[in-house]
Amino acid sequence: MGTDLEKVLISESEIQDKLAELAAEIDRDYAGKELLLIGVLKGAVMVMADLSRKLHTDASMDWMAVSSYGSGTKSSGVVRILKDLDADLTGKHVLIVEDIIDSGLTLSWLVDNLRSRGPASVNVATLLRKPEAAKVQVDVRYVGFDIPKAFVVGYGLDYAERYRHLPFVATLAPHVYA
Ligand code: 5GP
Ligand code: MG
Ligand code: MG
Repeated sequence: MGTDLEKVLISESEIQDKLAELAAEIDRDYAGKELLLIGVLKGAVMVMADLSRKLHTDASMDWMAVSSYGSGTKSSGVVRILKDLDADLTGKHVLIVEDIIDSGLTLSWLVDNLRSRGPASVNVATLLRKPEAAKVQVDVRYVGFDIPKAFVVGYGLDYAERYRHLPFVATLAPHVYA
């Protein structure tokens, strides 16, 4: 672990165990339904890859890229679509797969955007959630871990595009971004 990382917050096995629990819940809730998993690039790639492989439910996958953070550590509140979905959402059961919800601004915008496309349902699964997220009115059905306010990296999450490949979630030493 480089000196830029402070400590491991959630280990690889803790992540995998939790995703197995979430997958079992999702399997129960969507029994007999066809699911469309929507991953939000790039952060959600690891969650999508591991969560989807633990599902038994019949699922397809699509991706969207939006920007809200740039390379800094603070939400701008401005959301832009960088890559839209290929799939038509009409009548589909949509599950948004997220890495982390911080302010919730990105997600609440995304849920509204997807709901306007005529899906049968829209729910959200996220690996991580920060305390600020409680302030926005977005119902997040599946949450892996509630974490403190610190800036974290790893398991899809970056700082200036680094650290996404780590199999665990770690806090970044403040001297890196202060
Ligand atoms: P929100 O709009 O909920 O404030 O932010 C959502 C997005 O901001 C996440 O998908 C992620 O890209 C980024 N983000 C929020 N908190 C963190 C964090 O602690 N670490 C990293 N690497 N990205 C974060
Ligand atoms: Mg994300
Ligand atoms: Mg980022």
